[in-house]
Amino acid sequence: MRLSRYFLPILKETPREAEIVSHRLMLRAGMIRQQGQGSFSWLPLGKRVLDKVCRIIREEQDRAGALEILMPTIQSAELWRESGRYDDYGKEMLRIKDRQERDMLYGPTNEEMVTDIFRSYVKSYKDLPLNLYHIQWKFRDEVRPRFGVMRSREFLMKDAYSFDLDYEGARAAYNRMFVSYLRTFTRMGLQAIPMRADTGPIGGDLSHEFIILAETGESQVFCHRDYLGLAVPGEDVDFANDDEIGGIVKTWTTPYAATDEMHDEKAWEGIPEEQQVSARGIEVGHIFHFGEKYSKPMGAKVAGPDGKEHFVSMGSYGIGPSRLIAAVIEAMHDENGIVWPESIAPFDVALINMKVGDEACDQLCERINSVLTKAGKDVLYDDTDQRAGGKFATADLIGLPWQVIVGPRGAAAGEVEIKNRRTGERVTVPTEQVLHQVSGGA
Ligand code: ATP
Ligand code: MG
Repeated sequence: MRLSRYFLPILKETPREAEIVSHRLMLRAGMIRQQGQGSFSWLPLGKRVLDKVCRIIREEQDRAGALEILMPTIQSAELWRESGRYDDYGKEMLRIKDRQERDMLYGPTNEEMVTDIFRSYVKSYKDLPLNLYHIQWKFRDEVRPRFGVMRSREFLMKDAYSFDLDYEGARAAYNRMFVSYLRTFTRMGLQAIPMRADTGPIGGDLSHEFIILAETGESQVFCHRDYLGLAVPGEDVDFANDDEIGGIVKTWTTPYAATDEMHDEKAWEGIPEEQQVSARGIEVGHIFHFGEKYSKPMGAKVAGPDGKEHFVSMGSYGIGPSRLIAAVIEAMHDENGIVWPESIAPFDVALINMKVGDEACDQLCERINSVLTKAGKDVLYDDTDQRAGGKFATADLIGLPWQVIVGPRGAAAGEVEIKNRRTGERVTVPTEQVLHQVSGGA
């Protein structure tokens, strides 16, 4: 992609309304634009990151056996009356009327709708387990939308819903999502800690919030230092093996970890002080088991092996991709801008032509652009006539993992400079080695 033909509205000034670093950097880097209270457009650079984040989420949901669907954003109030939530949900729900004066709503979540899909088709335990997910916009009329996409009113959510014959099956489904979440966040370079969350009237211990430690987090959290060293399961983890998956969940739920609502001072005091981590955290995902809460009132049941009808046991599993991007930036930035992990960077390489119009520089840049692109790298080629200083500042701000810098002297010698955005390390290499170098080669 040529920067001269791209749409990257970089802001020179620090936007005053932005209170936290991720919000500031997303606005400055031209990733998002605020359209209204708690509502944002995703500009090209931001959209690329959002897509990459969603791709990782999809891959890990699919790996764990969930199936992607897509449900509408606008829902009928009728379904929500069946579960009783139309009245219970409160002011966070945006209620709408259509031209026939029918009550509609913009979905804040989809339990009712997915239960309706399920009950229309699935009649036998033989079709279980089933887990359906979608990635769709939600609207919640938050009391205090703030921090940009971290807490907005319209936001993207991946929400999955599992259906099982009984509690045992539902717990296995829960565990699969638990492990899938560990992998998902790790692939984005994040260390997410699963913390016990309130199960309210449902009871039991199957509710966890996945928390990223960050100074600007909205919740106070407490955990054992052991979490910082726990290994995350690799790609070869076998989601068909309930014992293996259950074992991983056990390892990840044994050390102490709780948000302040669930905090237990007694248990906390039992942990040696040097092992205690008390910090601020950002909730990027939440999984919970709620049994028959919707299947019973909505009549979602299947015939069991005993020939009797059973209300299915359900759980739901959310991740906020838009909030997640802000959380990644909170965790990974420096004074010059964003520092993307390679897996979700909007482009892999910033190719910087220091002297546009100089034949040797132009030609070399074209060649490098074509070699890298052919090798599957996403390249943002800065072919604009900005000064070199401005180009470096932009490249640092938007945080692409690699900068390939082409100047007249190097071009004459057949060399380019390569900077690693994260470490700041610079090396000069012969042009033939650019691909090798930006592929992490030593
Ligand atoms: P919070 O406690 O932060 O208000 P929640 O518990 O209401 O969130 P869930 O219903 O568990 O959120 O939603 C699943 C995920 O969706 C959350 O873990 C979060 O990543 C994301 N999310 C929820 N609300 C918002 C929001 N207002 N803006 C951006 N992302 C959100
Ligand atoms: Mg939650």
